[in-house]
Amino acid sequence: MPWSTIKLNDDTVIPNLAFGTWKLGNAQLGQDRVIQAFDAGFTHIDTAQNYGNENEAGDALHRSGISRDKVYITTKYSGRGTISDSIRQSLIKLRVDYVDLYLLHAPEVSKPDIQTAWAEMEKLQAQGLAKSIGVSNYEPSDLDTLLKTAKIVPAVNQILFHPYVYAETLPLLDYCAKKNIVIEAYSPLIPITSKPGGSVDKPVARIAAREHATPAQVLLAWAKAKGTVVITSSRERERLDGYIQAGDLELTKADIDDIDVAGALGSTRF
Ligand code: NDP
Repeated sequence: MPWSTIKLNDDTVIPNLAFGTWKLGNAQLGQDRVIQAFDAGFTHIDTAQNYGNENEAGDALHRSGISRDKVYITTKYSGRGTISDSIRQSLIKLRVDYVDLYLLHAPEVSKPDIQTAWAEMEKLQAQGLAKSIGVSNYEPSDLDTLLKTAKIVPAVNQILFHPYVYAETLPLLDYCAKKNIVIEAYSPLIPITSKPGGSVDKPVARIAAREHATPAQVLLAWAKAKGTVVITSSRERERLDGYIQAGDLELTKADIDDIDVAGALGSTRF
């Protein structure tokens, strides 16, 4: 099945592939790289207060002429200033009236504390500044704290997600599944970018050869098969085209099991 959408617990839908702006850089080049992603077919941009390039994403959106309802925008509160000021600043930089998804970037930046921060997030959603609200890098204990006083269950938890952390992440995945919190998978290509030669390479290479695909495409297809929203990035148009095509790559249960088993043998996080 090609890349599509996933329904969130607030009845909105989110594209299950996103283009991340973290390492894209600034100024014209940063903008051009976002436009390149739109041209390749990405409809979901993932940025954050502390990536320092919300401006570039906003300018790219403006320059591309894509209508607001055709693009899904996620940004995050990374701990600078108040949440209420931060989202307003982000909206100005992104040149939009609302974001589709606003996240608390991590428990440690959920200031002044998780419960107060979440109550602020609920207010922003009620004000229409963010259609959906969620968290990032939250462990079950952080979610327990949040849910004790929450009126709204986070729509997503955006986490590090690749084969080498999959086994240790299972309790968190189970927790989120039970609460109907969708997982967003960042840095799915770590086996390629940080750990070439690791145990995952073998099954990934075998599947890639069979499917006439690249290892990156197999890793994206693996993360998609786990039901996540996959967040990746590239500065290269050719790689972006490959990421889009990876939506059509269907892994078998045996493929997925092989990658899971190989991932559990490694220990790299980043
Ligand atoms: P990925 O693991 O998908 O890595 C993307 C990188 O892989 C690109 O920089 C690309 O480099 C490189 N790459 C792709 N193919 C190859 C290859 N064959 N050989 C070597 N390198 C390759 O994701 P990221 O870690 O970049 O994160 C994606 C997004 O996730 C971020 O931009 C951000 O939006 C989000 N994120 C969120 C975090 C959070 O705390 N919530 C933390 C980290 C990320 P090139 O540009 O040269 O093609």
